[in-house]
Amino acid sequence: MEETTRERRQKTFKCQSCGLNCPYTSYGQKPPNTRAIVLLEECYVTKDPFSPDKEKFLVLGSKCSLCGVTVCVGSDCSLFYTKRFCLRCVNKNLEQFPHQIRTELAKKSPR
Ligand SMILES: [Zn+2]
Ligand SMILES: [Zn+2]
Repeated sequence: MEETTRERRQKTFKCQSCGLNCPYTSYGQKPPNTRAIVLLEECYVTKDPFSPDKEKFLVLGSKCSLCGVTVCVGSDCSLFYTKRFCLRCVNKNLEQFPHQIRTELAKKSPR
């Protein structure tokens, strides 16, 4: 009796902010097949499909350190300031972020 349920289940990263949907290969601070790379945060990474270099990978997104939603690294969805924050949490806690970040955000959102 052969097991046919063996097909690799594709893990999928989904941004809960913009809905970006993309298969990922690993989650963590150290992407597989890379020697010296340790990321600043736990994040979803996928192998760079456009590069033959095995050590090339793309960071898709991560979890908001405050509310835990999964967000992509797009500047419309999250912000990295010592930790990853989704923009909702950033806006909720704006006064806790340095002035520089607030002005950056103000520039970006045409309200
Ligand atoms: Zn997104
Ligand atoms: Zn959040």
